[in-house]
Amino acid sequence: PPPTAQDLLGTLQQEGVEFLRLQFTDILGTTKNVEVPQSQFEKALRGDVTFDGSAVEGFTRVEESDMLLRPDLSTFLIYPQFSRGDEGRGRVARLICDVTLPDGTPFEGDPRFVLKRQVERARGRGFEMFVGTEPEFFLFERDAGGRVSPVTHDKAGYFDLAPVDKGERIRREIAGKLVQMGFEIEAAHHEVAPGQHEIDFRYAPALETADRIATFKFVVKRVALEYGLLASFLPKPIVGVNGSGMHCHLSLFRGGQNAFADPGGEHGLSDTARHFIAGLLEHAEGMAAITNPLVNSYKRLVPGYEAPVNVAWSTSNRSALIRIPAKRGNSTRAEVRMPDPSCNPYLTLAALLAAGLDGIEQGLEPPPAIGRNIFRMTVREKRHHRIRELPADLREAVDELEKDPVIAGALGEHVMEHFVAAKRAEWREYSATVHPWELERYLDLI
Ligand code: GLU
Ligand code: MG
Ligand code: MG
Repeated sequence: PPPTAQDLLGTLQQEGVEFLRLQFTDILGTTKNVEVPQSQFEKALRGDVTFDGSAVEGFTRVEESDMLLRPDLSTFLIYPQFSRGDEGRGRVARLICDVTLPDGTPFEGDPRFVLKRQVERARGRGFEMFVGTEPEFFLFERDAGGRVSPVTHDKAGYFDLAPVDKGERIRREIAGKLVQMGFEIEAAHHEVAPGQHEIDFRYAPALETADRIATFKFVVKRVALEYGLLASFLPKPIVGVNGSGMHCHLSLFRGGQNAFADPGGEHGLSDTARHFIAGLLEHAEGMAAITNPLVNSYKRLVPGYEAPVNVAWSTSNRSALIRIPAKRGNSTRAEVRMPDPSCNPYLTLAALLAAGLDGIEQGLEPPPAIGRNIFRMTVREKRHHRIRELPADLREAVDELEKDPVIAGALGEHVMEHFVAAKRAEWREYSATVHPWELERYLDLI
């Protein structure tokens, strides 16, 4: 059972915690926090700390600017010491909060609430979704002035060993900090591209995983900073090499049993799994703006870099949007390879769950699984297999999102309105910019 406010007050005092951070996430996925000192701990645990919501970009209208932070007591943790030479300084703890209106009604623009709503919808059908993720990131050098540029920190490749892999020490330290914060680390390794890394932590119910992704990014950045490096979750920082994805492994459980497994079904999958996969494929274009929310995200979704381009599923091939890893039984799951680590984890898991549940509710059937490398198929072969393509850029993705009532409905009006406006503005700014590529390509030619 989660601790009570009384338990936590005791812990805060015993552990000599001096500051408590009340965290939440805005619509674009940035973690925000309000830090309170000891004198406010009781009030904070009661859920009585207010903040001005209108100051948070895209969050709320001025007339409802007083918002309450209601801590989820199960998310309590005390931060490890991040800075060398910080020993003896005041300790800091955090709680992840739900955002509510002054009367306690959940705030519709709170991404955590959006995910909770889908979790409830699944529960209404007897399901709980578990999610494991594989966030990838780059480590870049900072120059003497602390400025950043995409100069990778090493030249190693997939699964390379130290000393080529200079990231090993940093990865270990990140993993160590995460373990101190209650994470169970399953693997940490160098990724394909120079300077690129991956750290995987154990799967958990969707909400817990979304909370963990937010914490994970913070810790990775914080530790890298300690080494004078920049950790970046930008999906495609360097042209010509692999980008960073955040594959999501999804499974539904019912009564303690994996509801995707059926030894008698085709590929060892149940009807539930098939419908769920069909729903994910059906809404792939509509979800893209959420799972891949940056202009830059679409530069990762190009052929040849282990990132998906086509809307298809496979039991083996990594060129597909959805891959079913070989393990069956309680490990039966769908690996969705589209999301990248720049996404808002709450909205992403909400969209994935909404898509899959729609497949179940409508009894959708997926097309046959593709066994071959789709990147090697001709246009005609793809058409024959009715394989669609993901949106080519952010503008197309936002158009698709607006055309998908299931995903738009899952996000709710408030989030839709602010998200779409922000993304359209981002696209306009990008389109109006003259990029170095254009000058290189055209300037002396035209
Ligand atoms: N970096 C690849 C991506 O962009 C994934 C590589 C892998 O399979 O781990 O999705
Ligand atoms: Mg990987
Ligand atoms: Mg993977």
